[in-house]
Amino acid sequence: ENLFKTYKPAPLKYDNIFEFDGQELYDEVTCTAKEIKNLLLTQNDLQPSDICVLFHRISGFTPWIRAVFESYGLPVNITDRFKTGDFPSVSGLIDLLNVHFSRFDHTAVSRVLTNPSLRRRYGDPVHFKHACAYIKVGSGYGKMHRLLTDSANALAAKGIRVDEDGEATGITASILSALKTIELLHDDLAPLTVDQEPGQFIHNFRHLIGKTGYLAKFLNGKGGSALFNIRALSSYIRSADRLFQVLGDYDNRIRTFEEYLEILIDLSQETRFNLIEQPETGIMITTPDEIRGLKFRHLFICALNEGDFPTRYKPEIFKYDGPAGQIKRHSAEERLLFYQALSAWKGEKNGNLYLTNSRRSQKKENVESFFKREMRGLFTITRKDTSIYDSMIYSGREEWESGVWRDIANDEVKNEVRSRIKDHLQQSNRADGYEGSNFAGFIDVDQSDETSPGYPVIRRVNEPFAPTALETYANCPYQFFVKHILNLKPVEDLSDDLDARESGILLHGILSAFHTKLLNEKRTVSNCSDDELKEFLREMVEIAVNDQKVRLNELLDTESFIAAEKVLGIAGDATMSILWRYLLEARENKTGLIPSLFENRFGGLSLTGLGSEKIPAPYEVRIHGTIDRIDINPDEKVYKVIDYKSGKNDYAEKDIASGRKLQIPVYLLATVKGKVTGIPEDHHYLFPQIFSLKYKEDEFGPKDVATPRGSNEDTPEVAERVWTNLLSTTEENIRKFVLGIYEGKFPLTSEPAREEKGCKYCEFSDLCRVKEHKPLEAAQNPSVPASLPDPME
Ligand code: SF4
Repeated sequence: ENLFKTYKPAPLKYDNIFEFDGQELYDEVTCTAKEIKNLLLTQNDLQPSDICVLFHRISGFTPWIRAVFESYGLPVNITDRFKTGDFPSVSGLIDLLNVHFSRFDHTAVSRVLTNPSLRRRYGDPVHFKHACAYIKVGSGYGKMHRLLTDSANALAAKGIRVDEDGEATGITASILSALKTIELLHDDLAPLTVDQEPGQFIHNFRHLIGKTGYLAKFLNGKGGSALFNIRALSSYIRSADRLFQVLGDYDNRIRTFEEYLEILIDLSQETRFNLIEQPETGIMITTPDEIRGLKFRHLFICALNEGDFPTRYKPEIFKYDGPAGQIKRHSAEERLLFYQALSAWKGEKNGNLYLTNSRRSQKKENVESFFKREMRGLFTITRKDTSIYDSMIYSGREEWESGVWRDIANDEVKNEVRSRIKDHLQQSNRADGYEGSNFAGFIDVDQSDETSPGYPVIRRVNEPFAPTALETYANCPYQFFVKHILNLKPVEDLSDDLDARESGILLHGILSAFHTKLLNEKRTVSNCSDDELKEFLREMVEIAVNDQKVRLNELLDTESFIAAEKVLGIAGDATMSILWRYLLEARENKTGLIPSLFENRFGGLSLTGLGSEKIPAPYEVRIHGTIDRIDINPDEKVYKVIDYKSGKNDYAEKDIASGRKLQIPVYLLATVKGKVTGIPEDHHYLFPQIFSLKYKEDEFGPKDVATPRGSNEDTPEVAERVWTNLLSTTEENIRKFVLGIYEGKFPLTSEPAREEKGCKYCEFSDLCRVKEHKPLEAAQNPSVPASLPDPME
């Protein structure tokens, strides 16, 4: 009666009205749940449905409420209404229509293909991505269709690879699958994409849903989300039917596909539905508006903060009657709602009213609601001491966190827990002893059993190693395991650049063909005139455009056009190209070295492997590789090993010494051991060189490797002084790495700065779950004691 009046009589004495607050919303909801659990446990006749929890704006709180109440095992009946567009059954339909809107953009198509209800009809997302990466195009139906058809024909001409069931395999399978995907999508969406009246559009839309079997898939759905998906989809289709009927009756003009798509997207955001979760049984969690006429024994009015209840006034745009009038009306509406909320409490002696709020929301301090203060003026309100909850256990999780389970669990449970904790510690390298744990990346290799899971490791050791594979092991043994034992590859994605490997193949091919031509014609770029340089450029471009492997001219018409332009010349200007930069560098070369050997493959390099307790020596470590270029100066009887890089040309000596860089040292080792054909026996090596082909001003060009600081003397004597040691260290490193592989040691990298170094760009970070792993320096150090702490301590 006296609510919101200025004059207030002395507060009425009540001993069943309580207030409490939590530090954050989570604490407020948690205390509410705990208090409800107390009530249910102490009042035998109390049913969950006798309790109501009110929030003015419930949608912001429901995720918390669901999570907390579920963890306390409290059944709820939340009347928050769900947005249909938040459910896959509805968002999948919008995704499907978006394919046409986005002009068959590969991300839009992939989104459709990752929807299980659409995948069966439209095809495999992995095949689709793979095919897009192959044709280097990821949008435009016409262009994609043409390139996929051409690729399918070209592959067919080579002879399609099939498996034992006669199905195409490899890239052919991906191309054929992707072709089918876009054709089906195109045909299914075609009736919707023409300009038409609302009635025709909704008819075609419903036809599409029926044709794809979409509705049936959700009707047959199982699991917790099935009911939500059905309700969302049926509510959405019902709303669409009604809306299009209204459009037909009142605004029956012809519209474009884009206009209809916009209407359908808006509708998915506006259409809501409700799911009565446990009618009559759960704790009612709702808004004051929804409980008019209902009464509850225990009532919680929550989130009593200024801005939450009452909400803040926001000016209305369409019904403007001056700010003063609007503020007054808003205030009256909020007060009425609060009154309505209070009216839902029965007010009996055996029932309580709770007024709660939280002191902070995210980073801001909350101000207690004026309504709560108003209530204090009218009634005696008892402040609930929430600290009593701290000494009680309300859920399995709290039982675990408090450690009480140790006292109450039987031996079987304790042993189970002990073994799980141990596994977890080992999986995340958090234990000191990890040796022998499969979880920590140590594989049991049984040499005598070819069917054992570790046997592929032995097979791998018996095959030749490329230096890059061993570099991978040096940098991260786990990554080596994934790439070279499991032979896993991440799904290719369309990049706006040629990928490094393809770009490398292309440039290496051009440079090799160009220098071979010069060698045969006894010409050299060194010291040439400007006109000659331009002629050299023309010859290189000719080689590039005739390259059959990469088809550069076609690439200019794809997403990879920038990469193609970097090679051929930006915007058609050949002097703005990698080839021109390369020629300018080559002209400056006055060393007398002549590019003589290209893409030189060696295979006979072998070392004697190291033995250990587990691994009997000797065994052979075979190494193979391809040297990009070797320049020879026959007069001086010297040669220089050159490796092209598509990135920077840094190659630190400390990385060579640690084995993290192996390519250059292995190539040099192969030449020194006489495994590379074409180098006369009496020739000596100079400092090997990295040549960066990166199209960037300060990173492009050659750089000798491991030259003494402050010296650029490139003679066989100085080179040998530095490299003799580096080569023997390299041999030792290779032996050590191969022994680690042989012994099945594949832990995650223990590099302390791994997040900034190797892991940052690693494609396997989700697989190895590096974020959960503690870098353990000892991971590759066998001297660490193999004991685990007792997890029960
Ligand atoms: S993310 Fe790091 S730890 Fe994981 S595989 Fe890659 S390099 Fe190794």
